[in-house]
Amino acid sequence: MLLPPRLKRELKTIAAMVKIYCSNHHDCPKGAVCESCTEFLEYAKKRLSRCPFKEKKPTCGKCTIHCYNKVMQAKARQIMRYSGPRILWNHPTLAFFHLLDGRRKIAEVRSCRRTVKNNQIK
Ligand SMILES: [Zn+2]
Repeated sequence: MLLPPRLKRELKTIAAMVKIYCSNHHDCPKGAVCESCTEFLEYAKKRLSRCPFKEKKPTCGKCTIHCYNKVMQAKARQIMRYSGPRILWNHPTLAFFHLLDGRRKIAEVRSCRRTVKNNQIK
């Protein structure tokens, strides 16, 4: 799957956060991610590959379209809340970019929204 660099970085950030969360909450061998967390990552990857914002994407927490289903959204929130502050120590570069991406102007995002409606992202 070919993701634009912006989305690739987002995926890397999500993967890093899931890893931190999983290794502290679930019983799995060191360095590995458990089944349900792998499933979550796969889901996130799929959603990202369909993200209509591409390079203009804000961070998922600030996105105007919430494309995750309820269960996955709850899981994402849980993971981000736990790993968000911790990623700063483990992956300062990713955290830095995440901060920048999060500051992307919402106006930019709004202008993309029309396209989204026409494409009927599901
Ligand atoms: Zn896990």
